[in-house]
Amino acid sequence: SETVLIIGAGHGCAQAVASLRSEKFEGKIVVVGDEDYIPYQRPPLSKDFLKGDLPLERLYIKPQKFYDDRDVEMKTGVRVTKIDPAGKTADLDNGESVSWDHLIIATGSHVRKLTCPGHDLGGVHYLRTVADVHGIQADFDGAKDVVVVGGGYIGLEIAAVARQKGKNVTVLEMADRILNRVVAPEMSAFYQRVHEEEGVKILCNTGVTALEGDGGKVSRVLTGDGQAFDADLVVVGIGIVPAQELAEAAGIELDNGIKVDEHCRTSAADVFAIGDVTSHPSPLYGRRIRLESVPNAMGQAKITAKAIMGTLEVYDEIPWFWSDQFDMKLQIAGLSAGYDQIVIRGDLNSRSIAAFYLKDGVLIAMDGVNRPAEFMASKKLITMKAKPDPDKLADPDVNMKEFL
Ligand code: FAD
Repeated sequence: SETVLIIGAGHGCAQAVASLRSEKFEGKIVVVGDEDYIPYQRPPLSKDFLKGDLPLERLYIKPQKFYDDRDVEMKTGVRVTKIDPAGKTADLDNGESVSWDHLIIATGSHVRKLTCPGHDLGGVHYLRTVADVHGIQADFDGAKDVVVVGGGYIGLEIAAVARQKGKNVTVLEMADRILNRVVAPEMSAFYQRVHEEEGVKILCNTGVTALEGDGGKVSRVLTGDGQAFDADLVVVGIGIVPAQELAEAAGIELDNGIKVDEHCRTSAADVFAIGDVTSHPSPLYGRRIRLESVPNAMGQAKITAKAIMGTLEVYDEIPWFWSDQFDMKLQIAGLSAGYDQIVIRGDLNSRSIAAFYLKDGVLIAMDGVNRPAEFMASKKLITMKAKPDPDKLADPDVNMKEFL
């Protein structure tokens, strides 16, 4: 019988296992993951799990029994060091070699690291894994001043948690506004205001140039404009890079991540890739995109399981994402890049708002803060390439169902 090898035991992997078996793949499934855990949910790492509100078992996407029932050979704490697409084998760091008929690369991403002087001091953390959270938590209790480097989602979520734990929190962002990669200036200002209301200090146009320490542990953060900030704990959230090194060494084509087609196939025969590590052609946006989101990893896993079973379906899900900060549930549908009009529904000085992004009258993206109805409707409208009346979009009294 055939073997599917999945490299990386994260979100994409868990869904690939479920889908392969529900699509009636009856061969062998081998999973190799370099973390010590079966696949777990990453989003709570910067939210409830960081707060300490969630036990580790609750993070697991599926319990161990799920994999046992599906006869999955799960190797955790083991790294794949090399793949050979021609010979259809993979080498592991425990000396083993695994032969496969179909390979799924689901290796996710690596955090981008600071390189400035002092970057390797104690008390400087990143956040990608359970082990990272344990490291932060060990330093949390004694910390008074927390500096977060990077004002993206993860940085802001960490800032919110640290503030809720009563720390003095400063966010340093190099760009001229927070969340600049993903939302409009109006939404950046909205988030900055709420964080400031909660007591978080946010400085934009502020790049970190060095970290200073006492006895090997960080104590100050220095910035390009000559400022210095006390810090007992520094958490860095300055983006990720796709974990594409295995594919790269094997000569598989890359393009801002592992390049896959609309069926998640790479340039090597019988090698698929899913999740953060991939860039794929988006029929909706007419360009190649790389997404860093759970729904994307899961959606691509489903398409891949089908392709392995001989059914080529096109991956065409609308991108969506969420973020929890203080009492705000942000939900984002679509990609706003290239918009030429923004319509705001709700009061920018409140904590409930929707921003609709249009291009040539077509709704291409939406950010909703505590606005689930607008979010659900927008997902459909974006997929339909609808041209909703901007005046009505702006009117909170107009029910979103009217647009559908
Ligand atoms: P991952 O889930 O990252 O899994 C990849 C696994 O492969 C990792 O365990 C990695 O260690 C392992 N691996 C890598 N190389 C090897 C190798 N050579 N051998 C063996 N194993 C290997 N997304 C959302 O949609 N909403 C959110 O609110 C949200 N919040 C987030 C908060 C945090 C703190 C983080 C870190 C991410 C968040 N994300 C969120 C992003 C989301 O978690 C990722 O998009 C998703 O996990 C991608 O799934 P994946 O399967 O591609 O990779």
